[in-house]
Amino acid sequence: MARRISIIGGGIGGLAAALACSQVGSVIEVFEAAKEFTELGAGVQLGPNVVKILDGWGLHEALAAVAAFPERLQVRSASSGRELGALRLGANTVQRYGASYATIHRADLHALLLAGLIGRDGVQLNLQSEVLAFEQDATSVGLQCANGRQARADLLLGADGLWSRVRQTLLRDGAPFATGHLAYRALVAQSSLPEILRSQRITVWLGPQLHVVQYPVRGGEWLNVVAVVEGPMRGDPAYWDHSADVVKLRSSMARTCAPLRDLIAAVDHWRLWGLNIRVPMKGPHEFGRGRVALLGDAAHPMLPYLAQGAGMAIEDAQALAMALRNDAVAVPDALGNYARARWQRNARVQARAIRNGRIFHATGLMRWGRDAAMKLLGERLLDMDWLYRGTS
Ligand SMILES: Cc1cc2nc3c(=O)[nH]c(=O)nc-3n(C[C@H](O)[C@H](O)[C@H](O)COP(=O)(O)OP(=O)(O)OC[C@H]3O[C@@H](n4cnc5c(N)ncnc54)[C@H](O)[C@@H]3O)c2cc1C
Repeated sequence: MARRISIIGGGIGGLAAALACSQVGSVIEVFEAAKEFTELGAGVQLGPNVVKILDGWGLHEALAAVAAFPERLQVRSASSGRELGALRLGANTVQRYGASYATIHRADLHALLLAGLIGRDGVQLNLQSEVLAFEQDATSVGLQCANGRQARADLLLGADGLWSRVRQTLLRDGAPFATGHLAYRALVAQSSLPEILRSQRITVWLGPQLHVVQYPVRGGEWLNVVAVVEGPMRGDPAYWDHSADVVKLRSSMARTCAPLRDLIAAVDHWRLWGLNIRVPMKGPHEFGRGRVALLGDAAHPMLPYLAQGAGMAIEDAQALAMALRNDAVAVPDALGNYARARWQRNARVQARAIRNGRIFHATGLMRWGRDAAMKLLGERLLDMDWLYRGTS
C-alpha cells in the first residue's frame, strides 16, 4: 500500500521532498503556514550535483527556461579588483559532472517544483496550515494545525526551516545561533545598470571581513547581488527580510576597489538577512526519531558560503525517496537508512561553509596565504569534485 507522508513546510525542501516521494508512489500532504506559496526575492546557485537531480525529476526544460547558466566563476580581490582565481563552468561542468551549473531566482526554483506537483495524483497542498504539534505511536503520526485541522500519516517530515518546530519538539536541542554575519541582498535588472556593471558570470569578491557574490538569474536578465559584512543583527532573527540601511552598507564597502563600489552604489534597494546556523551534524540521530524525520535547513542549516543549502535539501529529498521506495522496509528503518545516507555529507558541507567564511573574510597572513594558494592551485581549489559529483 502507498505510504502516506505529512510534510511540514512548503519551502524549497518541502516541495522537493513532495515531488521526489510522489514520484516513488507515496501519497503526500504538504502543510504550509503561509497564505501562499512564495519565496524571497533572491537567487540561489545550483551546482551540477543538484541540477542532475532536478533533471532526473523531469525538470530539465522547466529549469532551462528560467535559470541562467554562467560560463565562468571568478574570484576577485575586493580591495584591488585583481582576479585571484577562476573556474570554468558551462560545457566544462557538463563534461565533468554530467549536468550544468545553474543560477536561479529562488521564486523560479520554488515555482517549478510547485508546477511539478500541482494536479499530480496523491498530492494535496494546504496553505494557512501552521502545524502546532504532532505525536507518533507504533503505526502512525498525527498532527494538529493552528486552523483546527488534524491529519494522520505513516510518517511526518519536518521541512520547516531554520527555526523548525518539528526539530524542537523532537530533539529539544535549542535554537540556532547568530554568526555575526549579515547578508545584504539585492536583485537588479541588468538593463538598468551601466554596461560595464552587467555580467553573466558568477563573481565572488573577497575582502577583509566582507565578501560579495553576484550572478545572473532569470535567463541572465537580472543580477543577484549579496554583500556579506560582519556586525550585530537587530530585530527578529527569525525574520529573513529586514529593510537595509544602504548608507551603512556603502560605508562598509568604502575601502573596496572602484568597480565593486560602483556596483554597490548602482543598486538602490537592499534587504537584510542575519545569518544563523547550527554546528555541523554529529550523527544520524539529528535527522529524526521513529516515524519523524527532518530535511533541509530544519536538519542542517548552514552558512551560504558553499552555495549548497537548498542543494542539500534537494539531495535529502532524493535520498528520502530512494529510502522509501521499497514498501517492504518498515518506515522507521527506511528513515534510519535515509539519516545514515545523508548526515556525513551534510556535516561536511556545513563545516566547509564555516571554513569558507573564515577564508573569504581573512585578514593579514591568512589572507596572504589564501591569495597565494589560489594563484598556485587556481581551478584545482575551486572545483570540488567530492561535492559536484553528487551522491548517485
Ligand atoms: C544569503 C543566502 C544565500 C543563499 N544562497 C544559496 C545558494 O546559492 N544555493 C543554495 O543551494 N542555497 C543557498 N542558500 C540556502 C537556502 O536558501 C536554504 O538552505 C533553503 O532555502 C532551505 O530550504 P528549506 O525548505 O529547508 O527551508 P525554508 O526555505 O525555510 O522553508 C521552510 C518552510 O516551512 C514553513 N513553516 C515553518 N514552520 C512551519 C509550521 N510550523 N507549519 C507549517 N509550515 C511551517 C515556512 O513558512 C517555510 O515556507 C542561501 C541562504 C542564504 C541566507
